[in-house]
Amino acid sequence: MKKILFASSETHPLIKTGGLADVAGSLPVALSELGQDIRIIMPNYQAIKNCEPGRFLCTVRVNNCDVNLLETRLPDSEVPVWLVDYPPFFGFSGNPYLDDTGKPWPDIGDRFALFCRIVVEVAMNRAYLDWKPDVVHCNDWQTGLVPALLSLEEYRPATLFTIHNMAYQGLFPGSAYTLLNLPGQLWHPDGVEYHGMLSFIKGGLRFADRITTVSPTYAQEIQKPEFGYGLEGLLAYRRDYLSGIINGIDTTVWNPEKDAYISQNYSAKTLTGKQQNKTALQEQLGLPINPDLPLFALIGRLVDQKGIDLVLSCLPEITSLPLQFTLLGSGDKSIELKLQDFARLYPEKIAITIGYNEPLAHQMEAGADIFLMPSRFEPCGLNQMYSQRYGTIPIVRKTGGLADTVVDSLPESMTNGTASGIVFNDAVAAALHEAIKRSLILYTDKSTWKKIQRNAMGKDFSWLNSASQYLALYEEI
Ligand code: ADP
Repeated sequence: MKKILFASSETHPLIKTGGLADVAGSLPVALSELGQDIRIIMPNYQAIKNCEPGRFLCTVRVNNCDVNLLETRLPDSEVPVWLVDYPPFFGFSGNPYLDDTGKPWPDIGDRFALFCRIVVEVAMNRAYLDWKPDVVHCNDWQTGLVPALLSLEEYRPATLFTIHNMAYQGLFPGSAYTLLNLPGQLWHPDGVEYHGMLSFIKGGLRFADRITTVSPTYAQEIQKPEFGYGLEGLLAYRRDYLSGIINGIDTTVWNPEKDAYISQNYSAKTLTGKQQNKTALQEQLGLPINPDLPLFALIGRLVDQKGIDLVLSCLPEITSLPLQFTLLGSGDKSIELKLQDFARLYPEKIAITIGYNEPLAHQMEAGADIFLMPSRFEPCGLNQMYSQRYGTIPIVRKTGGLADTVVDSLPESMTNGTASGIVFNDAVAAALHEAIKRSLILYTDKSTWKKIQRNAMGKDFSWLNSASQYLALYEEI
């Protein structure tokens, strides 16, 4: 049994702004089910909800601040959560990174530097908790100083640093280094200095015993300038210590056999049940009810990363094809407006819903035939996995986690039973258009389509699978 301290700036369902919270709320539970002694540590934000109030454990003094440690539990689990309680930093409404008006906290560097110091004290068993981890598992830039600070300690635990998105690095002016009162030994280009600035993420990338990211393909991609945001050299240098582990999905929430949001539950064996969901969805969206027209869906943030511009460039041609298209999402206002214009022009073919709508996301996964995910980059991605589980065949671009979780339907993969979607290479509208046309050909051959659906629905995207891979890494380090 390993003792693991899991450090994260957010954990679902206590507080969530993105995919990191899903990982922090699921992976520790899976590891605990595998018999490991794992504790989560995170800041005690005012906005935390859905858990029992924290029980006082102790006070730790770091950098002239008296910080309390409180203990609660992850709901519906045995996993303890240690809350780093320091009201001058975390006692405000807003989310972990932004205030209520959407502005970044001006002292965000101070906040997470303090958090990192406390993680180090707990990791070194200097917080009177009588518990010393074998491994400290850090996540994203907010915890990047932990491996760096631990590197200065004797008899330190092993460290693992997971990158959820290289686009966020925790960069601060060089003057912050002195203000934060950090040890001088780390201030050099081979430490946490990045072109005269302080880089939190570099602390993780440079000093952790192992680095992981959320898919094997993304682990390769971030070693190139296009995805490495200036740190590709360091990542390439550490490539022998860098690997990718795909995130799992919550298979109880995303389960077509039990999903309470959808009008008919179904499984790979009772696929005809999916038809009723399609009818219900067409009706709900005001699209003509037609069982034979393939219904395409897209759910996600309307931002550059997700390749929505490729979809927009394709739309004029797509509307001449025999299909329907529905999209749920919000984000870039100009994209929202363009999409709505198309929907007004082609009400028989296109239905756009702007906003965040969890039930509709489930109904679209269940009712659509084909799911579009043409991302420009995608560290892991979840929707392509949900889609496969729901027998909704994904069309994805060959990048990051999409490349690792979807197998293109080609003669060989059809024969060996692995085909589970349609994959295209280039981030250009013509390639997406081609992939859509390819899906239409496959869709008309009912027995081929069913085969792809069954392959997709049979895949194991559970957290237990991913957790075993993390456990193997913990054991190695
Ligand atoms: P990312 O984390 O980059 O946004 P993912 O595919 O990894 O992309 O995860 C996005 C998650 O958010 C999925 O669970 C998806 O269903 C959900 N989601 C995104 N936009 C919406 C929306 N408008 N309504 C409902 N769910 C959404």
